[in-house]
Amino acid sequence: MKHDRIWNFNAGPAALPLEVLEKVHEQWFNFQGSGMCEIEMSHRSKEFDAIHNNTIAMMKKLLGLGDNYHVLFVQGGASQQFGMLPMGFLDKNKTADYINTGTWSTKAIKEAQLFGNVNVAFDGNEVDFMRLPKQEELKLSANAEYLHFTSNNTIKGTQFFDFPKTENGIPLVCDMSSDILSHRFDPAPFGMMYAGAQKNLGPSGVTLVILRDDFYQKASTNVTSMLKYKTHVDKNSLYNTPNTFGIYLMGLVLNWIDGLGGLEGVEKINKAKADLLYGTMKESNGYYRCPVAEDSRSWMNVCFRLPSEELEGMFVAQGLEAGFCGMKGHRSVGGCRISMYNASPLQAIEDVTAFMKDFMAKNG
Ligand SMILES: *Cc1c(COP(=O)(O)O)cnc(C)c1O
Repeated sequence: MKHDRIWNFNAGPAALPLEVLEKVHEQWFNFQGSGMCEIEMSHRSKEFDAIHNNTIAMMKKLLGLGDNYHVLFVQGGASQQFGMLPMGFLDKNKTADYINTGTWSTKAIKEAQLFGNVNVAFDGNEVDFMRLPKQEELKLSANAEYLHFTSNNTIKGTQFFDFPKTENGIPLVCDMSSDILSHRFDPAPFGMMYAGAQKNLGPSGVTLVILRDDFYQKASTNVTSMLKYKTHVDKNSLYNTPNTFGIYLMGLVLNWIDGLGGLEGVEKINKAKADLLYGTMKESNGYYRCPVAEDSRSWMNVCFRLPSEELEGMFVAQGLEAGFCGMKGHRSVGGCRISMYNASPLQAIEDVTAFMKDFMAKNG
């Protein structure tokens, strides 16, 4: 393959579009005639200002967000948001609803419990996290400040396509780290969306936070500066030095998505990839077995088992030799996993499914 690259199915940091990497390479030593690399520039320069504004504008365009949204780029990963959110919006007299669908939701719940009352509206432990809740299973509170959920469960391999619904305009808050911008959805019910960049948006070290203004207005300001949403909103994410490279690279990724036809375009490609991979497993008559309930299966992280752990080890090792990396399942669940975010083209899945058929024929 070009530049001797391989198909990268890592869960995160993950593959980036080759066109974007080539663009960065082309601009590396002299960004647009500035005589500097982008990472050598002041975050207060007019060049960086243009980069930053482009990334914000593209994010709003792709998600269809109006002027009542704040788009922030902060640090500390999605994990920082697990704590920053309840610090801003909860206290001992307030309640938030949380849907527990796996490892990341569990961590978010643990942080929120430090600050206020947490009502677990659905506990996925009861179904081994192998399916998502139906709307009628959710035990929602009438007075919740927000309902938090994880739209795609990177480790368990489940993904929401029909988002949970709340009453009385209670806002949704969502950790979209591993599926943001992978399909169309209506952003209107969301008070906040956040995502570490390293799965679907860019490099690690920059975290996207989107706040709807009416929700944001309720955030506590009695918090240290870096953990206070107001600091980042007032200073347009420039209170301190942001990850200038991450914001630049994310902008290039967003332009690339726009070029594919925006969310409608990537959704088509992601659906084709998922249909092909899950279809191949189905045709294998149980050789490749996905443990996740059919209506909860992720388009981004496809988890599966082979008939034995020995075969799984062989599959991962021979796969690597054949040019596919990152197919070992997360250490907490075992088995195999193919993470195929926006940057993985259909060709990658055509190639890996051919490898899967071949492996089965030889080791069936
Ligand atoms: C990877 C991941 C995280 C952790 O992100 P960090 O940026 O490493 O803090 C949180 N939530 C989800 C859904 C993830 O996939």
